Amino acid sequence: MRVTPEMILAATGATGVEEARLQVIGADMLIRSRAHKTGLLSTKFYSDALMEWSMKDPNFKVQMFRFVDAFPVLKETDDIYDHLQDYLGQPGVTVPTPIAAAMKVGTLAKGLAVKTIGGQIHSMAEKFIAGTDAASAVGNLKELWNDGIAFSVDLLGEACVSDAEAAEYQAKYLDLVNNLPEKVAGFKANARLESDHIGKVPRTNVSVKISSLSPMVDAIDTEGSIAALMKRLVPILEAAKAKGVFVNFDMEQFALKDLSLELFMKCCETVDFEAGLAMQAYLRSGPDDARRICDWAKRTGRAVTVRLVKGAYWDYEVINAEQRGWPCPVWGTKKQTDACFERMARIFLDSTPTQAGQGGVKLALGSHNVRSIASVLAAAESRGLPANAVELQMLHGMADQLKHAASDMGLRIREYVPVGQMIPGMAYLVRRLLENTSNESWLKAGFVDNADPRVLLAAPIDGAGVEDKSNLMAVAPERHALSPAVPSVGNSRPFFNESFRDFAGSGVRKGFAATVAATAAPKVAIDKTPEDANRMLTSAARAVAAWDAVGAHKRAMVLTRVAELMRLRRDELSAVMIKEAGKTWREADADTCEAIDFCEFYARLAVPLFERSRIGRFIGELDETLYQPRGVTVVIAPWNFPLAICCGMTVAALVTGNPVIVKPAEQTPGIAKILCDMLVAAITQVTGDRELAGCVLQFCPGAGETTGAALVRDSRTAIIAFTGSRDVGLDILSAAAPPSPFDPAGRAAADGLRHVKKVVCEMGGKNAVIIDTSADQDEAVLGVRHSAFGFQGQKCSAASRLIVVDPAGPNGPAITHFVQRLVEATKALVIGDPSKPGTDVGPVIDAEAKAKIEGFISRGEAAGFACERVAVPAGLEQATGRHYVAPTIFTLVPETHELANQEIFGPVLAVVHARSFDEALRIANNCAYKLTGGVFSRRPLHLERAKREFRVGNLYLNRGITGALVARHPFGGFGMSGVGSKAGGTDYLLQFVEPRAICENTMRRGFAPEL
Ligand SMILES: Cc1cc2nc3c(=O)[nH]c(=O)nc-3n(C[C@H](O)[C@H](O)[C@H](O)COP(=O)(O)OP(=O)(O)OC[C@H]3O[C@@H](n4cnc5c(N)ncnc54)[C@H](O)[C@@H]3O)c2cc1C
Repeated sequence: MRVTPEMILAATGATGVEEARLQVIGADMLIRSRAHKTGLLSTKFYSDALMEWSMKDPNFKVQMFRFVDAFPVLKETDDIYDHLQDYLGQPGVTVPTPIAAAMKVGTLAKGLAVKTIGGQIHSMAEKFIAGTDAASAVGNLKELWNDGIAFSVDLLGEACVSDAEAAEYQAKYLDLVNNLPEKVAGFKANARLESDHIGKVPRTNVSVKISSLSPMVDAIDTEGSIAALMKRLVPILEAAKAKGVFVNFDMEQFALKDLSLELFMKCCETVDFEAGLAMQAYLRSGPDDARRICDWAKRTGRAVTVRLVKGAYWDYEVINAEQRGWPCPVWGTKKQTDACFERMARIFLDSTPTQAGQGGVKLALGSHNVRSIASVLAAAESRGLPANAVELQMLHGMADQLKHAASDMGLRIREYVPVGQMIPGMAYLVRRLLENTSNESWLKAGFVDNADPRVLLAAPIDGAGVEDKSNLMAVAPERHALSPAVPSVGNSRPFFNESFRDFAGSGVRKGFAATVAATAAPKVAIDKTPEDANRMLTSAARAVAAWDAVGAHKRAMVLTRVAELMRLRRDELSAVMIKEAGKTWREADADTCEAIDFCEFYARLAVPLFERSRIGRFIGELDETLYQPRGVTVVIAPWNFPLAICCGMTVAALVTGNPVIVKPAEQTPGIAKILCDMLVAAITQVTGDRELAGCVLQFCPGAGETTGAALVRDSRTAIIAFTGSRDVGLDILSAAAPPSPFDPAGRAAADGLRHVKKVVCEMGGKNAVIIDTSADQDEAVLGVRHSAFGFQGQKCSAASRLIVVDPAGPNGPAITHFVQRLVEATKALVIGDPSKPGTDVGPVIDAEAKAKIEGFISRGEAAGFACERVAVPAGLEQATGRHYVAPTIFTLVPETHELANQEIFGPVLAVVHARSFDEALRIANNCAYKLTGGVFSRRPLHLERAKREFRVGNLYLNRGITGALVARHPFGGFGMSGVGSKAGGTDYLLQFVEPRAICENTMRRGFAPEL
């Protein structure tokens, strides 16, 4: 492709003059930096043995980096050795000879092998991390300064899960801001580093990650998050102002972008400190974000610095967007990111203040890409800005040649210097390793592959055939093929899950909040009697043939029509559940999405299911199978997923041709009524027959003990679809069972039967999560907290047993530390009114549930187990008129105690100790319930063993154990967790039909047409 000046201008905003000038600046910088090559840290970095092997073999790289990620948490030599052997033993990995030799030695002397590899990892980490704390990094900072390079100190640490951790980070930042200026005061003056084109630049520069300052930073509650963050930030910023320290806010994941921008502006309006903010060019919203900050700076007369970067979380953003079904926020090709960087830089340059006291944005470039840097320097020149109007910033341990070249060229250059321990620093280190070994990396192309300068300085314009990697969502239905595509059913494409609301968007939040405020759950009397049930059974039984005759295709269209109706009232449905069941915003939204998913998924499965299928190709004989509806279905729905589960069971029965009577949970009839009204409306619309609709779908709000019992026991009922507690489930199973003809009393009843009832029965869980020695603690704490206390633990999939492996015993460091972190993280949960966006834990369903849960807690306390409870805010019950149980964690519970083996269905977690992974698996399996389970481990062998030996219906590895998605995670257990095949799975519908086989002799007088 020939690149024209017009194309360059369109992509980057660079004029012909700027493009010509950048080639000169870029070439100069490249020549100077290549001359600086020998002996420099970053060249050494690439020649480091581990890196060299990693770049040669992608399989080795993946396994090695995974091992590096787990390495800091591993304490015992044997454990380290075993992990290493596991990783390198993965299929397709060629182990470099020196490592293979070390491993061989290791069979005799594991300590030696571990020391060799451990030493290499430490030395790699030291290249990126300048010291364990600011004091130990001062020597490094001085060396840098003397080399003509300024610094910005960053405290390593990724996930902050509790207030205690946030307070610790705040203290560290305060210490930095208060004490670093004195430590660097003795560095000799450097006018180039300490002034820009309009005035003085502070010597001490600190970078802050906002998420480290509060455990509950979440865009869903932007206002609350900003208030919590400012509580911790403002003292730091005031100290910075007093000490003349520059504070830069780093930019993290896209979900926090708008929140970070708002927080930054608010902080600047509150404290007059020397302020900076990182902004990311890999975001499609980059240019709009840039204009927003420039407009604000001009409007308020504030001069701030923007560190323009490309962005460090590209892979995460692409993966996360597809997993949640959201549009991808980042550009799909590297060149688009590069071009956006140049475009955004020009927006900032156009609002750079030209004299002191003017509002606007001063630009810093966080990049090691000479093309990107030179482009901006040329653009600054053409705007008449002096060279020192722009600062260059680069990462510690990377691109030292470039830093020295920039210094030689008289440019302002600053290094971003991370300090901290290896464990919290590991995520940072792995990001850097991946970035440096990526084929997309400019640095690798420039200094390892020694690419041609013309290529390195070429304008970032995508050529034909460049794969846009962010486009996963557009092709997701076909790529995953979760169901067949059925013409004119839904959008005629394969099924794909409904996307959750992205509450990071302020419009989404406002709309949702308004709907919640305006919605009340419909009042529905629970007044249907056994006589009413009897009448409903009569009309349902009469509708069996007519509903069958409607055909699968039209019935499927009923389901997709209901899905459409739900989408139209989506937030309202969620709001009803918030009001009626006490769900929090996200839980309610997920419930609505799941209901829509059941409709769309089962609709697509049903059409091919009802097509007759031929068996074999025998000549003269036509063998076929087909399915027919079973008959009247009674749905007995639970209150905990009052829309999704009720909808799933109901539409599965309907689409397979069975009339349904829905008996909702007594606690949540309002949402069930809305669902049933929608179903009747959709059946009427599709069939044009209101009377049929009224018989095919009947709503029966009545008491379980009387009306529910009558429906279940009636001989006209062909299917019972039930989800609920074990006790009710077992009662239904025994009530539905036919009498034994060998029992004298049962003989007559057995003779009167026309069919045996089919029971689809999903019951409870007592789900365990295992924390292995190599677990990623940040992920595990958050995963367990959400699984145990999300929706107050009132999910059959919720975590209620936590099995922590600690070879050192029940009071060993691994279990003690993990439980401490989990307890602190749990204390950070906000217990409140579920209609507020910032609430994490709402009420339990009713007074009876509260009493039952509290009973377990009292007995646990009486038994003397260590117990941590979060306090329910005073007055909350009175203010909301609801019943609350605080999240509660019992520690060192014997596996035989009721806390560790009975379903509590509330926010109560029992921690059990295991000495080894083997023991953990045994304890996990030693339970009658077999629903969900989880393992957090970074040992491949243990993950594999869990797949084979941890016997539950749904096993989750290295993630939370709730939130199964239709089609992707077919859901359901065995043992005492239920009978029946998985909801949201491809064979679920088979439970609602009866198979028939037909064999036709097509041969007449010895003649068959096919021959
Ligand atoms: C001083 C400093 C501070 C930083 N602070 C932050 C920060 O606060 N927040 C943050 O997120 N990052 C930050 N970074 C990291 C930065 O975002 C980049 O990851 C890093 O600098 C690499 O970009 P580059 O221009 O040096 O290299 P290049 O090799 O030119 O660019 C690499 C970048 O291109 C992008 N990319 C790669 N592949 C694709 C693709 N297929 N499609 C689209 N884009 C792609 C990615 O963003 C990747 O990091 C900082 C970097 C520096 C130097």
